[in-house]
Order: sequence, then C-alpha cells, then structure tokens
Amino acid sequence: MDRRQFLAAALAGGAATALVPARGNARAAPVTTTARIVIIGAGAAGTALANRLMERLDGAQITLIDPRREHLYQPGLSLVAAGLKPASYVVSDTARWLPEGVTWLQDYVAAVDPETRKVTTAGGTVLDYDRLVVAPGLILDHDAIEGFSLDMVGENGIGALYAGPDYAARTWAAASRFIETGGTALFTRPATEMKCAGAPLKHAFLIDDIARRAGQEGAVNMVYTAPQATLFGVPIVSEKVRMLFEDRGIDTMMKRTLTAIDAGAKRATFATEAGAEEIDYDYIHVIPPQRAPDFVRQSGLSWADKWTDQGWVEADMATLRHLRYPDIFALGDVAGVPKGKTAASVKWQVPVVEDHLVASLEGRDGTKAYDGYTSCPLITRVGSAMLVEFDYHNNLVPSFPGVIAPLEELWISWLMKEVALKATYNAMLRGKA
Ligand SMILES: Cc1cc2nc3c(=O)[nH]c(=O)nc-3n(C[C@H](O)[C@H](O)[C@H](O)COP(=O)(O)OP(=O)(O)OC[C@H]3O[C@@H](n4cnc5c(N)ncnc54)[C@H](O)[C@@H]3O)c2cc1C
Repeated sequence: MDRRQFLAAALAGGAATALVPARGNARAAPVTTTARIVIIGAGAAGTALANRLMERLDGAQITLIDPRREHLYQPGLSLVAAGLKPASYVVSDTARWLPEGVTWLQDYVAAVDPETRKVTTAGGTVLDYDRLVVAPGLILDHDAIEGFSLDMVGENGIGALYAGPDYAARTWAAASRFIETGGTALFTRPATEMKCAGAPLKHAFLIDDIARRAGQEGAVNMVYTAPQATLFGVPIVSEKVRMLFEDRGIDTMMKRTLTAIDAGAKRATFATEAGAEEIDYDYIHVIPPQRAPDFVRQSGLSWADKWTDQGWVEADMATLRHLRYPDIFALGDVAGVPKGKTAASVKWQVPVVEDHLVASLEGRDGTKAYDGYTSCPLITRVGSAMLVEFDYHNNLVPSFPGVIAPLEELWISWLMKEVALKATYNAMLRGKA
C-alpha cells in the first residue's frame, strides 16, 4: 500500500480499512532462520518492526527490550495540552501491540558491545545477538534548563507537554488559566534536533486560537522564541508560518535559547548572541534539549563528527544501517539522519530496515531506501491544519497532490491529525502498513 492509499484508507474508515493490503502488494514467503534479533525499544519503531519481522521470518528468536508497560501515542500530546483530548487518549498497554512469539524483556538497556555482539541490561541480563536494532527514542533533557523541574508543570504558568500525558494535561491547566487572566506567553524550542519540530508551533497556534475564541485576543501577548534563525527547517514552510504569525499577531524572538527559569519571579533567561537576556512571562512552554540515551554514546554507536553533543546513532541515511557495524540498524528518533524524527517517518523507515535486515540474513543486499520522508500535520487552529510532508532535500512530497494542498489551512488536514493519524499509527504498530 503506498502512502496515498494508506492515508486515504485511514481517513475514510479508520484502521480497519487501512489494514487491508493493496492488491499486488502481497508479502514475500517467510524466510527460515535461527537468527537472534534484539530490538531495543518497544515504542513506535521497535513495535512496528517486531510485528513485521514476525511475519517475514520463520524460526528467528526476536527479543524486544523495553521497561515501559505503557505505550504512548505521542502525537496526541498536543491535543491533550490544548484541552481537546484527555490524558488517557495517548496511553495504551505495551503488551497489547506486541506479536505472539516475541520475547519482551522488561528492562533498560545499559550497554551494547558491538564488537562481541552483546547487549547488557540494567538488571544484569546479557543477550547475544546476530542482528541488533537500536530504537530507544530520545531523552528529554529537562535538567538542562536551570531552575526548572517537572514538578513545576501546571503551576505558576509553566507548561511542558513533551514530558508525557499527565504533564500535557497539567500544561493545559496552566495554559487555560493564562487564557483567563491574560499577559505574555512564551513558546520555546531547543537548539538541538527534536522530535516533531512542528509541535512547538502547534502549541502556540492552538493557545492563540483558544484565547481568541474566549474573547481574550486583546488580553494576551503571544511570543514564539527559538534558537534558530527561521521558524521551520523547510524554507517554504517557514515562510508560510511567518506569514500566519504576522496575520495572527504572534510575535517572534529568534536566535534565543532558553537556559533558565525563575518560577517564582516568572522570569526566563535566554542565551543570545549578545549575551544573556531575561524576559518576564505569565505562561511559558518549555521544550528541553533532546539527545540519544546515554548507552548509545557510551557503547560507541554515535557519530564521532556530527551531533557530538547529542549522540545520535551513526547510520546510513538511506538504509539506516550502522556505518561501522553492519549487524546494527538504527530506527526512529535515535537515528543519526538529517530528518525524520516523527512517527510518520518511522512508518517509512521500518520497511527499509526490515528489507535490509532480512536480506542480510539471506546473504544478499536489500533494495529499499528511506528518502527522509517526514510529515507534520501542523495545526493552526482548532479545526484546521496544514499537512506538511517533505524529504531530505526539503522537497514537499504531498500524498494527495491537487487534493490536499500542503501549505493551506484545511479542515481535511485537521481531520488527518485529529482522527486519521491515530488509526494510521495503530495500524503501523501492528506492522500492517
Ligand atoms: C508532543 C509531540 C507531538 C508529536 N506529534 C507528532 C505528529 O503529529 N506526527 C508524527 O508523525 N509524529 C509526532 N511526534 C513524534 C513521534 O511520536 C515520535 O517520532 C515517535 O514516537 C518515535 O518513535 P520511536 O520508536 O523512535 O520512539 P518512542 O516511540 O519514543 O519509543 C522509544 C521506546 O524506547 C524505550 N527505551 C528508551 N530507553 C531505553 C533503554 N535504555 N532500554 C530499553 N528501552 C528503552 C522507551 O521506553 C520507549 O518505549 C510527536 C512527538 C511529541 C513528543
């Protein structure tokens, strides 16, 4: 099923329709193997791959390592933080998505030895592998913001929706109080790579829209701040967002990196080219720096010359195969490739890793390539969004050319985010897309 068929099916009928494979896309006969395959992380990427490998391989020992019992549908966090969905909307049981026959080891990975091909967990279990897939997502480094801690979220005008469902709900509590009382809101984003780079913009757009609907347009002062010089990594999208911000009266303060918060004084400190700058706020949304889990770097899997402060896994950008250890693949947010930290990217990365991993077990080369596909249903108001899709080269790659314009605020793009995306995501988890 190609991208357009998949999204159309999901939108028309939800996951059940989306699960029906397109004609002519029958899966290959299972490959018989006794390979030991270890997957680190049972999030979007690890779970989707485990389901697909169970169908592709006959006899493989597949072990998924992840301590988390709850699976989080993270794209829903933006909706929770705008009071549009309850926290429970994003939470399900990890076990529900795992295929029969996979061993789930509920533990943290503490180290990988890529030379002897061993994985060691925090609990002391040591696993040998023939192929390893590294998919532990990323770390949100909230401690990097001086004076900030997660227990502050929801109080004193502080929001942090990335931190999880309860924090997203508390973020809405703080944001809705701000809307009632008015004042200045600061929306921040980190200087590092981040998952779903559209989410900081979505939060600003939604809180602005909800304030307008509440008749508080004149009482709130919305300010979007970012370390970068532009609002989005794809120039044409950046320009569109700039125009929308201008229309809506959302101010921007670029080249500013949040470094500290004084919660009592409601004052934020930013690093700028001219030195530290303090800005008072009534509401602040914090998105911290992001990096690979420590074991990735400590195990020597990271790039030595790129993203050295962030530690993403050194991987070929087309095959996601480790450049120094061909038995290892990177998948999802942790992959050190120039784009792709979205669940939509995971959807297109998983078949590529499956292809090359299975081919390697058969002693041949895989043929599939990941093109950097990244998608961001960029919500601009309650009930409208822009379905922005692009690749490594910043080309816009719309799934519905001529039907859904990528840079227009549309109800149908909102439906994509609000209704279809979760069905699509769930189908992906089951390996059916
Ligand atoms: C606010 C927000 C909004 C978003 N909106 C969108 C959107 O609209 N569209 C979109 O496509 N994407 C969106 N995303 C991004 C998307 O959710 C992620 O890109 C996706 O979940 C990445 O999948 P992953 O498997 O790499 O990581 P995750 O899904 O985060 O899973 C990683 C797993 O690894 C486990 N793990 C971590 N460390 C270890 C360890 N040491 N040992 C074992 N297991 C470990 C974790 O417990 C977790 O279960 C959004 C994300 C956020 C936060």
